Amino acid sequence: MNVAFDIHGTLDNDDDGMLRGIFDAFCEPQWEGVKVFIVSGPPVEQIKKELEALGIDYSDLTIISVVDYLKRKGYYMWNTPKGWFARSDVWWKSKGMICEEYNIDMIFDDLIQYKKYMPETTKFILWQGYKRRL
Ligand SMILES: [Mg+2]
Repeated sequence: MNVAFDIHGTLDNDDDGMLRGIFDAFCEPQWEGVKVFIVSGPPVEQIKKELEALGIDYSDLTIISVVDYLKRKGYYMWNTPKGWFARSDVWWKSKGMICEEYNIDMIFDDLIQYKKYMPETTKFILWQGYKRRL
């Protein structure tokens, strides 16, 4: 099984540690056969820095950058002081395309906009963090 986690608003918005508990469990050796992915917007090098800041060892994770993915697929992207951008319709379908290509079975993300582009075989789990649940 392939399980994916977003970072912004998701793994970094987890004051009660509930999502981190799920994440850590999937990374445990007894879950052999579960491949854990990070699917997040920024370039891979930036994602690695953010994971380090969260205290997450990424050595066994598969990191997919939306920006890198869309560039590789030839989508028009532009850079700004806030980072890389693509047309919003392209951006919202990006994670669905990634989930299809990498056979992701389950993805935790805080933005519902990605859901309608998910393949039927991917379970989208809306995770909006502890603070927003209150
Ligand atoms: Mg997010």
